[in-house]
Amino acid sequence: MKLYAPRAQVLALRAETLAAKEPAPAALLELAWHVRQEEPQLAMRLLAQLENTLHEAYDPSQSSMHARAALIRAELAWLTADFAEAEYQLTVATAGFVAAEDEEGQGDTWLLGSRLAHDQSQIERREHALAEAQRYYRRAREPYRVLACDVWQAVDHCFSGNAPMLAHASQDAWAQYPEDPALCGLICYARAQFDFLSGDYVEAHMAFEEGERYLQDAGLMRMMISCIVNAGGGMGNLGDFETQALCVERALTHARPRGWPQAMGGCLYSLGDVYNALGRFDAARTAALEARQWLLPMNRSRIFVAVVTFLAEVTLRLDLPEEAHAEFEEARLAAEEGNQPELLGRIRVGLACCLSALGQGASALAMAHQVAQDSEGFDHITNQMARMAIARILVQNPDLPGPPEMQAPTPALHYLDELWQTQCHVPQWSPEDDLLKIYAEAWEQAGSIAESLRYERMRIAALNEENTRRATRQIAATSARHEAETARIEAEHQRQLLATERKRLGILESLGRIGQEITATLDPQDIFDTLARHAGAMLDVAGLRVWLLQDDVLVPTYTLEGGNAVTMGRDVPLDDPAANSARAAREGHEILVETEPGQVSATHIPGTRHMYSSLFGPLMVGTRLLGVISIQSARPHAYGELERLVFRNIAAYSAIALGNALNYRMLSVSHHKLVEAQAELERHASLDALTGLHNRRHLMLTATEHIERARNASQSLAVLMVDIDHFKPINDTYGHAAGDEALRVTADVLRSCVRPGDIVARFGGEEIVVLLPDTPAALALNVAERVRVAICANTVEFEHARFNLTVSIGVATWQAYESRIDDALRRADQALYHAKAHGRNVVKMDLIAATEIDH
Ligand code: GH3
Ligand code: MG
Ligand code: MG
Repeated sequence: MKLYAPRAQVLALRAETLAAKEPAPAALLELAWHVRQEEPQLAMRLLAQLENTLHEAYDPSQSSMHARAALIRAELAWLTADFAEAEYQLTVATAGFVAAEDEEGQGDTWLLGSRLAHDQSQIERREHALAEAQRYYRRAREPYRVLACDVWQAVDHCFSGNAPMLAHASQDAWAQYPEDPALCGLICYARAQFDFLSGDYVEAHMAFEEGERYLQDAGLMRMMISCIVNAGGGMGNLGDFETQALCVERALTHARPRGWPQAMGGCLYSLGDVYNALGRFDAARTAALEARQWLLPMNRSRIFVAVVTFLAEVTLRLDLPEEAHAEFEEARLAAEEGNQPELLGRIRVGLACCLSALGQGASALAMAHQVAQDSEGFDHITNQMARMAIARILVQNPDLPGPPEMQAPTPALHYLDELWQTQCHVPQWSPEDDLLKIYAEAWEQAGSIAESLRYERMRIAALNEENTRRATRQIAATSARHEAETARIEAEHQRQLLATERKRLGILESLGRIGQEITATLDPQDIFDTLARHAGAMLDVAGLRVWLLQDDVLVPTYTLEGGNAVTMGRDVPLDDPAANSARAAREGHEILVETEPGQVSATHIPGTRHMYSSLFGPLMVGTRLLGVISIQSARPHAYGELERLVFRNIAAYSAIALGNALNYRMLSVSHHKLVEAQAELERHASLDALTGLHNRRHLMLTATEHIERARNASQSLAVLMVDIDHFKPINDTYGHAAGDEALRVTADVLRSCVRPGDIVARFGGEEIVVLLPDTPAALALNVAERVRVAICANTVEFEHARFNLTVSIGVATWQAYESRIDDALRRADQALYHAKAHGRNVVKMDLIAATEIDH
């Protein structure tokens, strides 16, 4: 369990624990521990609740929890100054922690023990307890708590001016736990006390206010209230009573509901101080009396001594010496028994003044002399006070004797001169009002009206001067405070800006990465998955929906709820007046829909989880609307400014990615069609429509490739030029359609006579060329012969006509030196001419090819 937790953590724990139906005992205890000062009543309630859940019977495993509960009770009792109860609970806690061998708990118990000792002015016990706490923390390996003990010690010692202790503690704290609210707050408090003691009231004021903020964050409310009161005290010392009064008011708003004696006493003391400075002694006395009443349970503490001393001084000013005397006596007793000697001199001076006012001049004078003597040389302020009291007592009791060596006209004037002499050497000294007033009275008593008037005039001048000085100081203090405040606000602003900027940069960076990832894919499903993953990581997303626009209708395409795909919603026409998705699409910007808890939104689909926050955003690329995306959260007000910025960006990236995917799909469809068409076109361009054979253009193109290949592979290449014999009469006899059929049949027969790699092409009307790769002349002759025989053997049947065909074929070979096929074709044509000349239905070879065979 943390010793002190930052407010934000406590608030989260508070919300979670209080919302739980049956919170775990450990959670109840932890919350009670952390709200012990901030919400003492809640802490008590939680402890009662915890008691009910813990087993009645003694269970050793729970002894640590019981002990912690007792420790909380001890702290609450300490805060209300019920020391007996606090001590009792401390023993219970110790027993429990010892039984559980919980060293951290034992350390915490000692730490609270030290606070308890502090309030009861048991200084030795306080020091010992703090040392013990630290020892247990070391054993428990709790470096934070070890350091916290150092810091508490520095706080305890700041009144005695132990600066190195504070310096060490604050250095360590800053190095190990920078900006830790509890440590920073306590250190601010101690630093402010130092400033206060050395008279740097503006510094003190600022440091106390800084401490206030930290301590509030750490839940250390009692120290926080002290900070506020002391911040006001600093300004009061500068004559800025307005600020002091405001501080008191602020401190009281924290102190009153808690009713903690120490806090209430401090507030009312400061209030009395303000009244006193303003000359409203009655009001000052009332406040001081109330403060004393609150502080009675801790009537040995430093603050009690201070308050009662102050009360007595005010009472004396009100000319109530009897009451004042009793109060000074009470203060003296408290100071002596509580071992608080600091104010004893001042108290005895007050007692002397009371005695004098009560007509016991001799005892009064003796007492004042005693104080002056006791304080001589080490406590200048008390010494001056005592000497002033001596003079005053002598004015009040003119019959009392002065010292034997006295030169002045009266004993009072003797001591006044002495006082003046000791002080007038001090640079920038000016006699205070009281001194001049007593002087004037003393001279009047001595019978010199002129001297008396001189001091009276000096007094008026001094008063005027003091007023001016005070006004100047006040202006200086106010402007210093204003400057410091401005600087603080500015620094805070800068810090916030920096934090926001850092957060924004972080978000932009992740958005950039998301953008890259989403747009890297062209598959819509991938896009949606990536989108859902990132949106879920950056935002509170319980549900995500994507609609894609198809013909003015939003079609649900992707739906995710709680990580599972759910039933898709209905199609939403773009002009649907009720649907938020349609509205976002029409308006072209995002729409935030929020429902308060308990309220049911009109668009809620029964059976689905209720969503209290929804964002709808159009998926747009430029002005092109692709669809709508929506995210939902079960949390009310889940989407603030920053979340909407993130959502807008994710929607934009998704739109780009989807746009790309859609474009790609369209492109690939049309590309595919184009390729098909192209192939078709090319096929058509290379084929003869009637026979399905290659056409002449294709033959010529292919021939070049074959020549190239033949040349590279040193292969031969042959051509057959085939011409149907007496074709014209077929047309004439059976008709042109029969002629076409004859051509088709011839083509089929030809194709069946050659290898797959051979090219059969319609060359002219009824002339067909066959290109035979890797075929020497002899083989080409065989092929030609085979063709001729096959054609002869085949009968053409067309409608009622039946007839046979013959072909004449010329054979030629390509020569390696020829770069084109034309010469070979020409030679084949010549051979064909010979075949025709030889009576047709015959194969003829050109001369070059014939030579090749002969070889
Ligand atoms: P030869 O034995 O000397 O080759 O006699 P032939 O009748 O075949 O003479 P020629 O080669 O001069 O005649 C070719 C004829 O083929 C002319 C033309 O009418 C016919 N013809 C050309 N192309 C087509 C066609 O696509 N369809 C039809 N039905 N006839 C065609
Ligand atoms: Mg012919
Ligand atoms: Mg012909």
